[in-house]
Amino acid sequence: MTLEEYYQKRDFRKTPEPVASPGKSKEIPAGGRIFVVQEHDSTHLHYDLRLEIGGVLRSWALPKEPPLEEGVKRLAIPTEDHPLEYADFEGTIPEGHYGAGTVKTWDRGGYEPLEMGEDRLVVGLQGRKLQGRYALIRTKFRGKDSWLFFRTKS
Ligand code: MN
Repeated sequence: MTLEEYYQKRDFRKTPEPVASPGKSKEIPAGGRIFVVQEHDSTHLHYDLRLEIGGVLRSWALPKEPPLEEGVKRLAIPTEDHPLEYADFEGTIPEGHYGAGTVKTWDRGGYEPLEMGEDRLVVGLQGRKLQGRYALIRTKFRGKDSWLFFRTKS
């Protein structure tokens, strides 16, 4: 995994978004790794789901609010990996820049990796809102790489 795309898309003289600081270790919650969902009020309001995997935040954009209950499947569009520091980011990305708009924490916590396959991830989320077993399954949507995010039976 690489953060190259993250850096290519942004001008850090203009955006308040974090620059990864190599060597600075992040505190990992006991019993799991970090996950965060950020409400991003950009061109379209969406929810960015990020899971700490392999030292970066693997990321998906959900056009709709993440489901609290079983039976609701949400589209999750994969986006570029973000640095771990992004889990703490809240702020406003200025007009005319990538992702312009406001980022706020919608939920966060630790997670337990239950199944970490190439096309299928199952995690136990320990957030304030999202709690329990959730799956991310790779699928195709209008010919594009996309995923489905939903709560599964525990
Ligand atoms: Mn976003």
